Formats: sequence, structure tokens, C-alpha cells
Amino acid sequence: MPCPNLKVTMKIYYDKDANLKLLKKRKITVIGYGSQGHAHAHNLHDSGMDVTVGVNKNGASWKKAKKAGLKVADIAAAAQGADLVMVLIPDEHQGDLYRDVLAANLKKGATLAFAHGFNIHFHQIEPRADIDVVMIAPKGPGHLVRSTYVGGGRAGVIATTFREETETDLFGEQVVLCGGLVELVQAGFETLTEAGYAPEMAYFECLHELKLIVDLMYEGGIADMYYSISNTAEYGAIARGPQIIDAKTRQRMRVILEKIRNGEFAKEFVFEGKCNGAMLKRSRSRLRDTELEKVGGKLRSMMPWIAKQKLVDRGKN
Ligand code: NAP
Ligand code: MG
Repeated sequence: MPCPNLKVTMKIYYDKDANLKLLKKRKITVIGYGSQGHAHAHNLHDSGMDVTVGVNKNGASWKKAKKAGLKVADIAAAAQGADLVMVLIPDEHQGDLYRDVLAANLKKGATLAFAHGFNIHFHQIEPRADIDVVMIAPKGPGHLVRSTYVGGGRAGVIATTFREETETDLFGEQVVLCGGLVELVQAGFETLTEAGYAPEMAYFECLHELKLIVDLMYEGGIADMYYSISNTAEYGAIARGPQIIDAKTRQRMRVILEKIRNGEFAKEFVFEGKCNGAMLKRSRSRLRDTELEKVGGKLRSMMPWIAKQKLVDRGKN
């Protein structure tokens, strides 16, 4: 429930504002059955909607979606006749998919839906004039979009624009959530192991415990996290943290934000797509060979309770 005294400047919608009946009369197609695709398809299906998954017949997703009991069709066939078509394949391939398949197969007046503003905001897709365009951008990884639907409470829907969603989302993932965090973890791990400490100790300190700390922050903000840790840890954090993330780091953050806003990052990423994800492939194989990932795999196999609650099952979703 939103706090009544809190002045919220943005518009937030809750369950009472939504009317599922409006979707019930529609044919819905979800294109892609990856992280977001499987989540949206199953959530809509479990909500009683008429959902078809559109994927390539020769891809890995075809079998996964069939096995999960969903209606599956080739992308062109799934797009034809659908009232709402949600595009949930990787951003770097969406432009080609629209031009090669969707433009000719979407029915007149259909609604095209996105989970991220990238392709519309950076003009990689320019939909036909008769097409409505909407965005439902989850603030979390696809596997959590599914697990929250299955087991959790529902949060609100924040009204936003393609520009605001795209720019803040890219900034968050590049600077804090994914880019900054992974580098911080790796740098910490390598500093400890280079100094001769056991990689297992370094793994626990720099990666495993991160979840425990983030859970506290997620639940009660930074103050509750500080409340829960020792005074020693809290003092160390306030005395040393600003030496790691300093004014120069903040300046680099502003530069990264500017490169998002002026389209430089988009251009770079679209080029990466044209190169068949060369950088991504190289980085994934390099990552597999790092000591951090190797020792992590070993340690996690000794903590079976982690696997029991695993959100990602690559064979299924
Ligand atoms: P993803 O998991 O990488 O998508 C994989 C799916 O796309 C698979 O079903 C794959 O089919 C299909 N696919 C890949 N390339 C294709 C192509 N060229 N043509 C047709 N199908 C293709 O994608 P995602 O991470 O869920 O991202 C989908 C959208 O959600 C993006 O706009 C992204 O920005 C947004 N989003 C994602 C997250 C997230 O947590 N991942 C969070 C917020 C928003 P095959 O198995 O047949 O290859
Ligand atoms: Mg995001």
C-alpha cells in the first residue's frame, strides 16, 4: 500500500485500476520465450488470457514452450491476427524482426508491446502508422517477473515514457546493477586472492555475502542494513566506501549517462548486434575461465539449498 503521507510525483497504478476483461477478448502473442518471454507468456496464460508464443521452429525455445503446455507458432503465423503482440527477443535483433517479419504480418490496428524502450526511443523500429505502441517494462529480471507472479504480492505500475524508461534503465544496469557491481565484485575478489588469501574466502566475502546485504537494503533501506551489521562493519563502510566510489567515479557516471542520452551507446550496441554479438560471446567465454566463476561453481554445489530455490533453469526457461 502506498503511504498516504508520501508525496508521490509520479503516477502509479494498482490492481484496482486494471481491468483484465479488456485483454480477455483479445488474441495475445508473445514473441520470444527467453527471460522475459517465458514470464509474460505464463503470467498471462495463468491469468486466463488467450496467449500464443511466437518463436522460430528450429530454435531452442520452441520445445521449451511446447513442453510447458503453451500454444506455440512460427513468429509470422503468431503475429497474424493477434491484437496484442509483445516483442520479447533481444533488443539488438528486434529491428530486423520488425522489418523482416512483423511489418508485413501485423494486422491493421494491432498493438505492439515492448518491455524496454530501446528500439522505439532510438528509432530502430518505426511502426506502421496504424499500429499502437505500448510498453510494460518490468523493473526486474524476467525470472523474477515469473516467480513474483507465482508466489509474491503485486507491486504497482509506474507511468513513464519511452525516453525516461530507456535512459534510466540503461544507466542503472551499466553503472550500478550489472556493470559497476560485477567489476566491484571481481576487483575485490582479485585483490584478496592476489594478496594470497584463499579464493573460497574471497568468494564468500565479495560475492556470496552480497545477497545477504542487498536483501537487508531491499527490505529496509541502507539504515536497516547498517542496523543489522556490526558497528565495525558500518564504520569501515562509511570510512572507506567514499574512497572507492569518489568524485572521479561520479564524473565518469555523468559521462556514461551522457553517452546514453546522446545515442552513442545505442549506436555502439546496434553495431554489436550487427557483429553477431562478438563482444558478448568473447566476454561470456572469458568469464567462464575466471577463478571467481570456477570457485563459485564449486562452492555453490556444496550448498544444495541454493539450487533448490534457483530461479534460472536453462533447460526450461
Ligand atoms: P532473451 O531471454 O535473450 O530472449 C531469448 C528469446 O528470443 C528466445 O526465445 C530466442 O529464441 C529468441 N530470439 C533470439 N534471437 C532471435 C531472433 N533473431 N529472432 C527471433 N527470435 C529470437 O531476451 P530478454 O532478456 O528476455 O529480453 C527481451 C526484452 O525484454 C528486451 O527488450 C529487454 O530489454 C527486455 N527486458 C529484459 C529484462 C530481463 O530481465 N532479461 C528486464 C527488463 C526488460 P530461440 O530459443 O529460438 O533462439
Ligand atoms: Mg532494468
